[in-house]
Amino acid sequence: MLVNDDIHALSTAVSGIVAVPDSPEFAEETFAFNVATVHRPDVVLGAADAQDVAAGVKWAAERRVPVSVQSTGHGAESAVDGGLLISTRRLQDVQIDPVERTARVGAGVKWRSVLEASVPHGLIGLHGSSTDVGVVGYTVGGGLPVLGRALGFAADHVRSMEVVTADGALRRIDADAEAELFALMCGGKGNFAIVTAVEFNLFPLGDFYGGGIIYPGADAAPVLTAFREWLPTLPDDASPSISLLRLPDMEFVPPPLRGQFVVHLRFAYLGNREAGDALLAPMRAVSTPLMDTAGPMSYLDVDQIHMDPADPLPFTDGGALLKDFGADAAAELLRLAGDGTDCPLLLIEIRPLGGALARGGILPDAVSGRDAAFLLFLVGLKVPEAAEAVTSSIRAILGAMAPYSTGYTLVNFHGEPGDEADRARAWSPAVYERMVAAKSTYDPGNLLRFGHAINGAPAAS
Ligand SMILES: Cc1cc2nc3c(=O)[nH]c(=O)nc-3n(C[C@H](O)[C@H](O)[C@H](O)COP(=O)(O)OP(=O)(O)OC[C@H]3O[C@@H](n4cnc5c(N)ncnc54)[C@H](O)[C@@H]3O)c2cc1C
Repeated sequence: MLVNDDIHALSTAVSGIVAVPDSPEFAEETFAFNVATVHRPDVVLGAADAQDVAAGVKWAAERRVPVSVQSTGHGAESAVDGGLLISTRRLQDVQIDPVERTARVGAGVKWRSVLEASVPHGLIGLHGSSTDVGVVGYTVGGGLPVLGRALGFAADHVRSMEVVTADGALRRIDADAEAELFALMCGGKGNFAIVTAVEFNLFPLGDFYGGGIIYPGADAAPVLTAFREWLPTLPDDASPSISLLRLPDMEFVPPPLRGQFVVHLRFAYLGNREAGDALLAPMRAVSTPLMDTAGPMSYLDVDQIHMDPADPLPFTDGGALLKDFGADAAAELLRLAGDGTDCPLLLIEIRPLGGALARGGILPDAVSGRDAAFLLFLVGLKVPEAAEAVTSSIRAILGAMAPYSTGYTLVNFHGEPGDEADRARAWSPAVYERMVAAKSTYDPGNLLRFGHAINGAPAAS
């Protein structure tokens, strides 16, 4: 149990904020974007810099106090209970090297800040559907980008990381220095170290065409059929996804769509208007859209493609990697979640993978899903009156889609982590074995044990 002297020792070792549950700063320092998750650590450290992170981990290691980390709380799938929570949200340094085409960013930086600094140089990073998400939490989870089929997973393009390992040491790791730790931090989530900064490749931005088409939910069946037939005709430079959306009557939803069941096609393409329009033509012909925003797009408007909620909200989710999304799988999905059903989920998304996502980076990193054809992702609002129905709907859909699944997940889309065997499904058995070995090397005391954590034990078979 921590006593006042322990808290005092932490306060004097760092320059950032230290707060305990009855401190006025506690709620703000522990706040998560997923407001369904309320973290209750014994103490939170709002780190001012990398040295604070190192001092915090060292303090915790000396007392065997478990450590968790958060920047934005977009990935707050489960609540931290006890121990030290380190908030990295003040680590806001963003450096762009336009010649080397790299960015180096602190562990509190969101993707939006990277784009605001890089786009004026004609460069982009491999962010996901919302640029409100933190660069580090996303990247250590593999990072499935909007332009994934064209450019690969974010983790495939990391140059180096600055990390604090469980002994409190601050290290710079890359493909030469601590190569195995580096490879496993690229996709292995926060299991081995806390990242204080990450350096990664940027990509030149030429023509960019993007947006979405929203169809009436009543047309879900023909739209999904057209989508499946359309996919093989696309080049890797085009990254589409499709979702069934049950939009609540809430402010973050554009007024004409509030309370509606719709199908949302998202499209991101490295090409010009003529080529983009030609690619999209079959999907424009399938039904009369309620909304069509696809066209040449300023890259800074990229969040308009997926239209993810920008403000904090309570949610829960679940996902699976699919081998295929054929007619049977689509019919099964519509049986449970199509027009006329009482499916309570906000979003059911099918994201095609393949292309550069399947090819991988230079290092044998810890990203999974290279052999999968699609990601299935399910999200529901976690409000008291709907939580039970949402959880059982996620379970029912994942169960019904199991015959089409690889049996594995992407860690960023896994949902609430279950037991060790369930957590292990976010990696291939070979990668998981490497992770267990690395855990015993870099964190033998299992200090870093929150979030999508592995505890170092082999998964139950
Ligand atoms: C609206 C929305 C859209 C999304 N879109 C995508 C997408 O397109 N592609 C995709 O791949 N993912 C996507 N995600 C999932 C997202 O990448 C994960 O939730 C990710 O964990 C968020 O990182 P964060 O730092 O913002 O969140 P946080 O909740 O702050 O962190 C989540 C976890 O990341 C790890 N972590 C965070 N900081 C550190 C650190 N400094 N060192 C080590 N580990 C750390 C920890 O395990 C932590 O528990 C989306 C999530 C949301 C809510």
